Amino acid sequence: MSDIAAGLAAIRSRIAAAETAAGRAPGSVALVAVAKTHPAEAVIAALAAGQRLFGENRVQEAKAKYPDLKALHPDLRLHLIGPLQTNKVREAVALFDVIETLDRPKLARVLADEIERAGRRPDILIQVNIGREPQKAGIDPDQADTLIALCRSEYRLEPSGLMCIPPAGEDPAPHFRRLGELAARNGLPVRSMGMSEDFPTAIACGATHVRVGSAIFGHRG
Ligand SMILES: *Cc1c(COP(=O)(O)O)cnc(C)c1O
Repeated sequence: MSDIAAGLAAIRSRIAAAETAAGRAPGSVALVAVAKTHPAEAVIAALAAGQRLFGENRVQEAKAKYPDLKALHPDLRLHLIGPLQTNKVREAVALFDVIETLDRPKLARVLADEIERAGRRPDILIQVNIGREPQKAGIDPDQADTLIALCRSEYRLEPSGLMCIPPAGEDPAPHFRRLGELAARNGLPVRSMGMSEDFPTAIACGATHVRVGSAIFGHRG
């Protein structure tokens, strides 16, 4: 588990170097530590090393790992970074502080209703299928403006930003830049982009949040 503290320290210093190289303010990029498939002990080790933002891609796994840890660490913030089914919205709104994967009008409606009902308001990001990959989640880039407008006008949801996963095996920079343009023209400050392999590029392209898993916690079994 001391590997986790060392991994976190290494990623933090690479983030700082990328901020400086891009002429960005120190601390302007937040690190979301993606602990999916790793046990609660891994999260505890990261908490001991000062980490407070975590990402998970499955609601059920997060429910098993985090309620006790959130009680111990009220400043722990949990991001949902995987696809959200409408039948899991109630649990997701109860547990997550940020839902990064809103990608369709029906989910916007169900989320808005649950937020109203529960009186708990997680931050919402819109996931954009920036490379238009048929198998990938996310709204088509051409429909993102419409979905954002619909969230605002119909569903009383004010998204705080955009999230994307660029196509594997391609230069991610043009995709990251296009996500930034989409966010800027919609007045959205948050850009969640960049993973273990490409987070320095994402920071150069304006990421405000990077989601790093294997480079901190090791490879997933
Ligand atoms: C797993 C995952 C990550 C982290 O990926 P690594 O390559 O392990 O850093 C980031 N974002 C999403 C959406 C993921 O599912």
